[in-house]
Amino acid sequence: MAIITKRLSVSGRDHLISPHFKLAEMACRDGTDTVLYSTELMALLERLREAVGGAVVIHSGYRTAAYNKKIGGASLSQHVKGRAADVSVLRDGSVLPAKKLCCLAQTMGFPGVGYISGTALHLDVRPEGLYRGDERKGYGGNVGGDFYRYFGLNESDIAALTAKANPAPAEEKEETDMTQERFNELMEGYLRFRAAAPASAWSESDRRWAEENGLFRGDGAGNFAYRSFCTREELAAVARRLAEREKRD
Ligand SMILES: [Zn+2]
Repeated sequence: MAIITKRLSVSGRDHLISPHFKLAEMACRDGTDTVLYSTELMALLERLREAVGGAVVIHSGYRTAAYNKKIGGASLSQHVKGRAADVSVLRDGSVLPAKKLCCLAQTMGFPGVGYISGTALHLDVRPEGLYRGDERKGYGGNVGGDFYRYFGLNESDIAALTAKANPAPAEEKEETDMTQERFNELMEGYLRFRAAAPASAWSESDRRWAEENGLFRGDGAGNFAYRSFCTREELAAVARRLAEREKRD
């Protein structure tokens, strides 16, 4: 397995580096053109995706040394080598619990697994040794080598996580009973997921401009939910702020 080096400007952001992952998904969030990724990592992420029947969202893949330092990453981070990804897994409008995903990743043979939060985990393919960490306690946070014991979960908890992707044929239903209530629930889960997703690097200067000019004001707690959809009432408010700003200029 190899570490591949590609450039966004040459291969294109949408260039597929595995059947379901694009080059831009592994790119450093500071907008750096060069992207490093491990083919072994991408193969394992594909297997994880298949195992749970969900979408694997990469929050942070390759990081330049400078960016890694800036965000306070571990100095010997596998991210810097293109061998790591911090991910969430989304299925049916919900984010799957990271505790169970840590156990699953351990069973699947990811050399490095770190619990980040209820919805996110670190995965890597370090060439030597294993890493099983609780990153809430810093990068060295040790879980004693076994996420199952650490989180008090067993194999059957994990089986439930993967059962949906591999349903028993006899139990397969023709149609899921979809009610308005259920749909709203799923949609709300999806919207929450979008609201929590980090903004893309390409829009950084646009976002800064919009904030500095008072067009976007966030929720008062510093959250701008940049990956959320915009309603017409929000659009009306932004249009008015823009018009008033132009009057002032
Ligand atoms: Zn990480």
